[in-house]
Amino acid sequence: MSNAATQVPYKIYLREDQMPKAWYNLRADMKTKPAPLLNPGTGKPMTEQELSAVFCQKLARQELDNDTTYVPIPEKILNFYKMYRPSPLVRAYCLEKKLNTPARIFYKFEGNNTSGSHKLNSAIAQAYYAKQQGLKGVTTETGAGQWGTALSMACAYLGLDCRVYMVKVSYAQKPYRREVMRTYGAQVIPSPSDTTAVGREILSRNPDTSGSLGCAISEAVEASRAETGYRYVLGSVLNQVLLHQSVIGLETKAALDEYGIRPDLIIGCAGGGSNLGGLIAPFMAERLRGESDCRFLAVEPASCPSLTRGVFAYDFTDTGRICPMAKMYTLGSDFIPAPNHAGGLRYHGMSPILSQLYHDEYLEAVAVPQREVFQAAEAFARTEGILPAPESSHAIKTAIDEALRCRETGEAKNIVFGLTGTGYFDLAAYQRFHDGTLTDSIPSDEDLARSLEKLPKL
Ligand SMILES: *Cc1c(COP(=O)(O)O)cnc(C)c1O
Repeated sequence: MSNAATQVPYKIYLREDQMPKAWYNLRADMKTKPAPLLNPGTGKPMTEQELSAVFCQKLARQELDNDTTYVPIPEKILNFYKMYRPSPLVRAYCLEKKLNTPARIFYKFEGNNTSGSHKLNSAIAQAYYAKQQGLKGVTTETGAGQWGTALSMACAYLGLDCRVYMVKVSYAQKPYRREVMRTYGAQVIPSPSDTTAVGREILSRNPDTSGSLGCAISEAVEASRAETGYRYVLGSVLNQVLLHQSVIGLETKAALDEYGIRPDLIIGCAGGGSNLGGLIAPFMAERLRGESDCRFLAVEPASCPSLTRGVFAYDFTDTGRICPMAKMYTLGSDFIPAPNHAGGLRYHGMSPILSQLYHDEYLEAVAVPQREVFQAAEAFARTEGILPAPESSHAIKTAIDEALRCRETGEAKNIVFGLTGTGYFDLAAYQRFHDGTLTDSIPSDEDLARSLEKLPKL
């Protein structure tokens, strides 16, 4: 195994004929399935019919499907994937040398498309099913802007209307993100806005609010219901999104298999859990079947620590409490990270699939403070050349820590991490880091207790 690994090229690309033709549904191999979404009105599991009022029909079906192992990827999506996939699996030779570690480090780089992240993998799938159903358009929210950008690209490709509610603070801080979305034809609205009842209500209570993801979700859902021919789409957290993102893990596995490499540890940043869920999917399947003892590690920001400090309970998925409730590790739907938090990954909850795997101890988690994350980002940029997104840099930070641990123990572990995107639109955060004004703010137990008090009582 070690001989094979030393011959690995700097980048492993798959040939077109080696690319996955079907997504892999991890739920099919989970003994304890993720808990069902509940209707916030009745407290009963959401039916396909109820879900179809919010999501496209096919996506509602994917959301509820805990049994189908492989879901064929429609031809049109495969063709779109070919424009920017396969993404490279990179052997981080330069980083290994810099760290003087016996570990072998690999990263799967998903930033090689204009939207700059893995989110395009699910955006094209969701836009495709909306188009196939004959819809006019889709609505969504975006925080940092990557999801909105990805969805704009997918909608432009398929000729769909795209309306994006962008968290107000990002709208102001990231004007160039907005222009990219407008270039692809999307309408971008700062949230909260006066275009929805929930937005007007939030503004009347708190006119100076900088907005939150949960609030933008409520607005996007309301907007999708207000007009016929529109549905809401979401870029993370949901089972369907993890299904689409399995393309990351399937490609990674095919590339590693080419060289006979078995990972010992797979690391990913976790906001809503979609890139991590996708990256680990086929490897977790082997672990669940008892065929491997690979470890899986989720990395979250210390300022938004849903897995490491949240509770596993049913919670609202949005601030307006109109979306289905999910059983997940959560900090409470009112939780908003401190304003100085710049590292993304700011959603209050975590994918129900990953939450269940964490609860069942198949997945581990760590929380890291943001200054260390930016230090790791800078070290990575200087050695491997890629300017990473702050979100991705949580995984970099932890991969470096683990590789340094291998230096202590002398273990030649195979470490794989997800490099989810590039950081060109995050230079204001980098600037604060370089100027020394970026601080770590970690919520107190009292802060968390306050937002957890408002969990729904079932
Ligand atoms: C959205 C995003 C994430 C976090 O989302 P997950 O659903 O947890 O994967 C991580 N990295 C980048 C670059 C992103 O855009």
